Amino acid sequence: MTQGREDAQGMSALVVEDSPPMRKMIVFALARIRGLRVVEADDGVDALRRLATARFDLVITDINMPILDGLKLVKRLRADEAYRDVPIIIITTEGAEEDRQRALALGATAYVTKPIQATQVIELVRQVLGL
Ligand SMILES: [Mg+2]
Repeated sequence: MTQGREDAQGMSALVVEDSPPMRKMIVFALARIRGLRVVEADDGVDALRRLATARFDLVITDINMPILDGLKLVKRLRADEAYRDVPIIIITTEGAEEDRQRALALGATAYVTKPIQATQVIELVRQVLGL
């Protein structure tokens, strides 16, 4: 399905999600984008640590996480010159309209709603990466 389309050689994505099954599912979906390097973080603090040591072209983050949630992560990234313009896709739960609006107001680029559909995630990632 993705054959013949541009690959993501040299690009990397950080997946921030505290639920291991959900994280695996997103990573599995992203594996279908050829060339994309995917790194996992299990909460916002872990994400900040990884973002400080490597460069990412995209951040996909859950909102509801312990220690440092997705809204705070978006806020921190948008205040950081290095990540001011990096696409951020947030993962929200159905019905969490307020969270979605807050995330977008804080500078999130786009959102996906649980239950996550792999094809939807892939399309959105391709779109924000310009592939
Ligand atoms: Mg969560």
